[in-house]
Amino acid sequence: MTQSKGTNTQIRVAIIGSGPAGFYACEHLFKKSEYEFSIDMYDKLPTPHGLVRSGVAPDHQKIKSVTRIYDKIASNERFRFFGLVEYGKHITMEDLKKHYHIVVFATGAQTDRKMNIPGEDLAGSHTATEFVAWYNGHPDYRDYNFDLTQERVAIVGVGNVAVDVARILCRTQEELMQTDIADYALEALKKSRVKEVFLLGRRGPAQAAFTNPEVRELGNLDDAHAVTRVEEVELDEFTKELLEKKEDRSAVKKIEILNSYSEDIEFEKSRKLHIRFLVSPVKLLGNKEGHVKALKLVKNELYKSEDGSLRPRATNEFEELPVGLVFRSIGYHGVPLPDVPFHDKWGVIHNEKGRVLDSDTGEHVHGVYSTGWIKRGPTGVIGTNKLDSGETVQCIAEDIESGNILSPEAPEPDQVLELVRERQPDYFSYKDWLRLNELEISRGEKEGRPRIKYTSIEEMLAAVKNND
Ligand code: NAP
Repeated sequence: MTQSKGTNTQIRVAIIGSGPAGFYACEHLFKKSEYEFSIDMYDKLPTPHGLVRSGVAPDHQKIKSVTRIYDKIASNERFRFFGLVEYGKHITMEDLKKHYHIVVFATGAQTDRKMNIPGEDLAGSHTATEFVAWYNGHPDYRDYNFDLTQERVAIVGVGNVAVDVARILCRTQEELMQTDIADYALEALKKSRVKEVFLLGRRGPAQAAFTNPEVRELGNLDDAHAVTRVEEVELDEFTKELLEKKEDRSAVKKIEILNSYSEDIEFEKSRKLHIRFLVSPVKLLGNKEGHVKALKLVKNELYKSEDGSLRPRATNEFEELPVGLVFRSIGYHGVPLPDVPFHDKWGVIHNEKGRVLDSDTGEHVHGVYSTGWIKRGPTGVIGTNKLDSGETVQCIAEDIESGNILSPEAPEPDQVLELVRERQPDYFSYKDWLRLNELEISRGEKEGRPRIKYTSIEEMLAAVKNND
């Protein structure tokens, strides 16, 4: 199809996924005043905002206020939200090509990477992504159980997600009461017997993926001490050399913070949060009932790889760490979508700068794009998606100019609305979400909390319908 500049013809766009990347793609599209974009955003959940609702830690409310920007974008009269409408189930690629000029996938990374070591599937071994989705009230995870009667917990990985999990396990009931953590999680954590939490990094402190504000926050928990071991925070020769050369102030600061946790402190608090380095789990050991009872760890040393980065290498020193609960937090991984070319190893949609590419020919699949974690992998903070979506939208604009977009046979907004109503009569509009949002906030106000979430789809539907 050829779409020339200034024709004022509406360009119909479907965005699959309503997290930050999807919303920033909308924002960039609406800013392109030379075209009249009209956008339908789909999500398999009734509620929008992706990981801002179900990933960002409940004790990081400030970060969640970014949704005000998304509400503003959604208030554009050429924007519609279809919540509870799942791609591949209620709407297919064939449907999308029939109704839209442009299709953008912004589905994020919905699963996790595996450690691929023996014992990983023992009872009591979980992914951090499950725990995070559980405490954030994601409807698919509300019925998960985590054995919080255990006193010792290990978290494998030292990224910001691992830090979030550690904080939630170490917070007091009073601290958690100030958050929008799911009600059932608040109740379960109230009974928690967790006393010691171990964050396990496979490389050294300078290579830790967590950021400085996050690791600093671990030093300010009401009833938990963060502790490091002097010998593990001490820098190896390679790291010293690299830090001197690159003058990496952020890494220097990080080491300073971690060193401050290795000072002798009086243990007056009930919980201890051990931040460990240069160790990798090689096996999870189970008891007779098949429940995890310990992690076998190997001590690592660092070596300089061909690309100059410092990688971990196992020594022949081992240690057994008794723990009854294990979370692996070693990165998210994207999930393939029906009829969308996928790169299994990287866990992303096969794409170049957001243009989706045919896996066999490497040619652009006209009209189809990706943005966010499903495009570049699970890295960066919320704001990173703004830049990322900008790149995708730039490709879209170039392809409109050159006429390389889809030619839908039924582009009228009402035509697809009819289809959605037929396939999912209970779909949630943005107005429905705003109403649910108000209800959650008012439930929270009564208990002095930012909000009390609805965590089942049935509850959400009932709440909105009863308030019509
Ligand atoms: P991440 O930052 O990529 O961290 C993954 C961690 O897992 C790293 O420590 C990594 O170590 C380790 N790891 C990977 N494979 C491993 C293995 N086989 N054995 C042991 N350790 C292994 O991922 P994330 O924590 O899931 O976070 C995802 C993104 O969301 C990040 O960009 C993060 O900054 C962002 N996020 C931000 C916030 C915030 O701003 N507050 C909160 C949550 C998440 P190596 O470095 O050695 O590979």
